[in-house]
Parts: sequence; structure tokens; C-alpha cells
Amino acid sequence: MRDKIVAGNWKMNLNFEDAIQLATNINAWVADNHPIAQVIIAPSSIYLQTLLEGVDEQYVKIASQDIAAHEKGAYTGDVSAEQLDSIGLDFAIIGHSERREYQFETDEIIAAKLKQAFKYQISPIFCVGEKLEERESEKHFEVVKSQIVNALKSQKAEDLSRLIIAYEPVWAIGTGKTASPEQAQEIHAFIRKVLNDEFGTDVANNTSILYGGSVNAQNANQIFAQPDIDGGLVGGASLKYEDFTQIISACK
Ligand code: PGA
Repeated sequence: MRDKIVAGNWKMNLNFEDAIQLATNINAWVADNHPIAQVIIAPSSIYLQTLLEGVDEQYVKIASQDIAAHEKGAYTGDVSAEQLDSIGLDFAIIGHSERREYQFETDEIIAAKLKQAFKYQISPIFCVGEKLEERESEKHFEVVKSQIVNALKSQKAEDLSRLIIAYEPVWAIGTGKTASPEQAQEIHAFIRKVLNDEFGTDVANNTSILYGGSVNAQNANQIFAQPDIDGGLVGGASLKYEDFTQIISACK
């Protein structure tokens, strides 16, 4: 059985006080509604340690939004996998489309980041997804396949048991436009087939594949009902307690 996961990507939002308040409220709600999908929150890196200490890890896991591609050294501003591991962090978002776009992260850089995560037993939420023009020219299958193969081909087979994938069509992120449940299911099934063909049946069957892109309290039920969708990576709606807890409830 694959894990059902709802991860909140807070991006560059919330001040310290609001971040603690929201995490505390979500933790209390999950404790009351347990057992439920695995809930993960990804705050800005300056809050990671406080939130790791502030939530109960049997209810809420904390993730970083990125990880350095290098082990250590003269990389001003970066935070390494070893450092994240040393504060007890177990999850990291890697390869988000905003980092691909604004920080020019390539598949090669993302592969190096995944390698660092695996080395320190951090489970990556590895993001893939096509841009609007790639979807319109029907290149989305090809694009997503190459993102997956390029980032994963150099990883150790045994590390892939930690992998979580998030499929996030770039045209659906923060736009209010969601892939239809059928469109999302189609590409999730395709991703599972790619995993099967390239990395074997165990990886295909055991990897949770999350959908991301304008998931909200209204559309979550239908999206999560699809057989190859194991949960969601939620941006905007994860900043609102009511919406995020409804989305978690929808992930069964
Ligand atoms: P969104 O963001 O839910 O605001 O579209 C999702 C994401 O970027 O992870």
C-alpha cells in the first residue's frame, strides 16, 4: 500500500508568529482526526527547527522547500542535506517549478540535490510538470518522462524506496486552473508506467505520486479519488487552516 500524503508548500509566506500558529492548529486538528493521510508542512527554512520542535511528528512532518546540490563549503545562502538532517528533518521538496524557473535549476542540478537528500535519508518530494506551451503542443508526456529519467537515472536503486513524486503542471500552479481529474489521472498513470519501465515494479507500485496545482477544498475530493493519485502538494490553499484541513480530509 502506498502512503497517502498531503503536503503544504508554504513558499515564501507567513511571518514567524503566523507560521507557528498555523502549524500548531494543523497539528491539533490532525491529532483529533487521526488516523488520516500523512500531513507534511514545508515552511521557509528559517522556521524549520522551531516547527520541528513545535509539532508532534506522529501527526505532522516538516519538510524544507529545497536542499543544496553540494555537500558543504562555499555556497553562500544554501542549506545542505547534512545540516537539515542534523536538525532532524526527514522530507524536502526538490525541483519545484518555481526553482526551475527563477533559480535556473536543471535536471542535472536536481539530480545532485536528490543524491544529497538520499545520502542523508531525507525523502524527497520530487516535482515534475510541463509548461502550458508543452501541454498545448502535446509534449507533456515526453517532458515529464525526461524530467523523471534525467533526475533519477543516476540514483542508487535502493534509495528510490524513499522517493515521493509530485506532478505539478506549471500552468495550474497558483493560477486557479486545475488539471481535470481525468487529465491528472492520465499523466499519473503514465508516470507510474515510466517508473515501472525504467526502475522496476516495486518502485512503480510503492512511490506515492501527488498532484499539485490549484488544489482546493472544492476540487480535492475528485482529484484524490483517482486511482494513481496518492495525495496532493498544496500551495495557496495550505495557508488557510479551514481549506487545508478539508483537503486533508479528502485524501482517503
Ligand atoms: P498552488 O501551488 O496550490 O498554489 O497552485 C502548488 C505548488 O506550487 O506546490
